[in-house]
Amino acid sequence: MPESDLKAPREGPANIEALRGKLSEYLECAGRPLTFMEVCGTHTVAIFRSGLRSLLPEGLRVLSGPGCPVCVTDQSEIDMALSLAKRDCVVLTYGDMLRVPGSSGSLLKMKGEGAAVEVVTSAIQSMEIARKNPEREVVFLGVGFETTAPATAVTLQQARRNGLDNFSVLCLHKTVPAALSALCSNPDLRIDGFILPGHVTVVTGLDEYAFLTKKLRRAAAVAGFEPEEILACMTDLARQVAERDFRLSVWRLKDVPIEGNPAARRILSEVFEPCDARWRGLGVIAGSGCRIAEPYGEFDAVRKFGLDPAEDVVDNGCRCGEVLSGLISPPECELFGRVCTPLAPVGPCMVSSEGTCGAWYRYHQ
Ligand code: SF4
Repeated sequence: MPESDLKAPREGPANIEALRGKLSEYLECAGRPLTFMEVCGTHTVAIFRSGLRSLLPEGLRVLSGPGCPVCVTDQSEIDMALSLAKRDCVVLTYGDMLRVPGSSGSLLKMKGEGAAVEVVTSAIQSMEIARKNPEREVVFLGVGFETTAPATAVTLQQARRNGLDNFSVLCLHKTVPAALSALCSNPDLRIDGFILPGHVTVVTGLDEYAFLTKKLRRAAAVAGFEPEEILACMTDLARQVAERDFRLSVWRLKDVPIEGNPAARRILSEVFEPCDARWRGLGVIAGSGCRIAEPYGEFDAVRKFGLDPAEDVVDNGCRCGEVLSGLISPPECELFGRVCTPLAPVGPCMVSSEGTCGAWYRYHQ
């Protein structure tokens, strides 16, 4: 099958059928079962919601990796947020973070007990709240990958320009490539190909992922969020393995700029510097976090309040770490659907609308 046949995915059931046929052919050529992993919460939901799993040929396993920013936020990081709420700070965060459990409850629980915890829809909104409440210390939880980090960075630049001294950010932003590298070094996990997130690469560009194909010899391709795009991406991953021709490719109906967004990357490099970060269930991954750089140090909640992320202390039976690593699927967790449900989540993978356990519960039950 010439590679050019796979270019430019088109919408429609006929194209889906054609792609399924090609995918099966490449799987046969590969001569063994293949395992692909998507690393984006939006892909997790898109694959479940579209019913794509039921169309995949035998011999292809698709795992959900650490692509949901809420899910990968570590218990120790939630504990730091809880300690800020206990100090009478106003803690502002995106909605899903409220219910993520720390070692002594959640932000939602603290809010119910009277703590000043509020939901915001943007980083800049949190700065406005700080401006209107100069008598209170206001802390924004910066959570997410390369897609949300630029908004936090711009907010910090504005806070410095405005001379806000009651505003800070608990910076929990993480970056995807280092996590993929860590997963590839896990001997218990053999991932043949990665479905890369389209919106992250719009910021980072493709070069950040070249190590997967060039150095680690894994198949890798960027996909949009339409079923045709995801299926075309999987088909090309199978082709890369079958032909041992590992080359990054892009499967989006709309273009992804190869170089990403240089303006966003420049702002990120001005405001943040790389640091080691703790991922829930995956441990510390070198260089996978964003720390607020020295020129913006006065807005760093960790420095301002002397926070010290402790090791995880509570084992509540949640196996999110294994789910996020692709080592088990959600139903293999003993708590799934019995003790842990979207209404009563035990772990973050059930909390988030983009979490694997939550998606599995909603679309597989
Ligand atoms: S089902 Fe619940 S307890 Fe089990 S891994 Fe998922 S989130 Fe954690």
